[in-house]
Amino acid sequence: MKCGRGGSFSKGELQRFGNIELNPSAGVLNYGQGLFEGLKAYRKEDGNILLFRPEENALRMRQGAERMCMPAPTVEQFVDAVKATVLANKRWIPPAGKGSLYIRPLLMGSGAVLGLAPAPEYTFLIYVSPVGNYFKEGIAPIHLFVEHELHRATPGGTGGVKTIGNYAAVLKAQSAAKAKGYSDVLYLDCVHKKYLEEVSSCNIFVVKGNVISTPAIKGTILPGITRKSIIDVARSQGFQVEERLVSVDELLAADEVFVTGTAVVVSPVGSITYLGKRLSYGDGGVGVVSQQLYSVLTRLQMGLLKDDMDWIVELS
Ligand code: PMP
Repeated sequence: MKCGRGGSFSKGELQRFGNIELNPSAGVLNYGQGLFEGLKAYRKEDGNILLFRPEENALRMRQGAERMCMPAPTVEQFVDAVKATVLANKRWIPPAGKGSLYIRPLLMGSGAVLGLAPAPEYTFLIYVSPVGNYFKEGIAPIHLFVEHELHRATPGGTGGVKTIGNYAAVLKAQSAAKAKGYSDVLYLDCVHKKYLEEVSSCNIFVVKGNVISTPAIKGTILPGITRKSIIDVARSQGFQVEERLVSVDELLAADEVFVTGTAVVVSPVGSITYLGKRLSYGDGGVGVVSQQLYSVLTRLQMGLLKDDMDWIVELS
């Protein structure tokens, strides 16, 4: 789908996956005007296809577009385009319980712009790929490294929207951590270097007794759709959930830590290395709270639990 600055998007069309042409002075290539989303389609036993809260991705893209001076598709255009793309790629959706189809909507400034300014034209496209687990550990515990030199977001910056540059900002720390055997990096706030923010591509939760705490959304972390869903699921399961400043010291006293995201779903954290000290959780297995929330969320997403919250869009 294409659109001029401030205008409305044209009706899209399905195209075979392949290279696209871009003007060398496209806004996305020169000034980083790019946003993306990520969601998954699961196949049910009866062959039907399930999407999880796609309108939330559409809304988040619209909020991001406002921050990035870009026009965005309407919620209806976004969701219709996702449905059409998924249905056209039905054969790539793994059988029930064997993985999912990852869906990547992308919005970019495709028009040419030489001096710094919003691009004059925008392109919205969607591509898909079958996927298995994000971390090689699967639902097994992952190992995080707390970064205190490099930051992914600053107050007033773009850390709270899903823009491409945020991911460029994490590559250096993430590559270094992976080279040392860690699964990913946990970022701290850049002002006090003391409060938890998030992991490169997922949100973090700390469990202590019946209380589950997660950093509040305040512009420097992404408002994850899995985060929001897990908060509701946890409350419905009787946990007390707090969204607030969570100090790095609370990791010391935590019973369990887990991360959430479309790609990682709910992944337990086995250890966190902070200032050279390694904190370990549990006995190397999956914590009971992480396991419980993982089971409820994945069974909902796969159509194995009643969808009381009206989160599922079913396609046949
Ligand atoms: N934080 C960041 C930086 C991310 O890239 C993602 C993945 N979209 C998340 C958190 C989790 O968001 P969601 O649950 O919507 O996938």
